[in-house]
Amino acid sequence: MPRHTAIPMTDHQISPQRHANMAAIHGKDTKPEKMVRSYLWSHGFRYRLNDPRLPGKPDVVLRKYHTCVFVNGCFWHGHEGCRFYRVPKTNTPFWEEKVRRNKERDLKVRHQLTALGWNCIVVWECELKPKVRERTLESLAFTLNSIFLQEQRVKKPYSIQDDQPLMAAEE
Ligand SMILES: [Zn+2]
Repeated sequence: MPRHTAIPMTDHQISPQRHANMAAIHGKDTKPEKMVRSYLWSHGFRYRLNDPRLPGKPDVVLRKYHTCVFVNGCFWHGHEGCRFYRVPKTNTPFWEEKVRRNKERDLKVRHQLTALGWNCIVVWECELKPKVRERTLESLAFTLNSIFLQEQRVKKPYSIQDDQPLMAAEE
């Protein structure tokens, strides 16, 4: 009888290994958008997802920063000069047309958002590959903070101008 326990034990030894493999596979499957979201959240950025009130239902909407973040797949959104954007050898015109239309729509959405006073940031899937991920996410956070500071700076002169007539009236 004790001999038999050796079998389940072996199983147990395999199990954590298998577990690790599954975790690794799962990690690989993690959607780029989720990476961006969890990074932003853990660094104190608060956002809304796929806000349907905005053109193009942006992936991540940071109201405080007046910024929409799009996490784009390199193939579907036709990332120029990217090695992950390769048009399939078969049905080439079909794919090219599909990607061309996606790009056209992306551009239109960006113009609409800009016209509404939103900043748009595109994070490409290839920029989230393990080797470059950290740098990409850090620079995203840096850009958001810069946008925030810039907007604060832009607002200040206006509020001073608004206050001036009141102060003059008090004199
Ligand atoms: Zn790319």
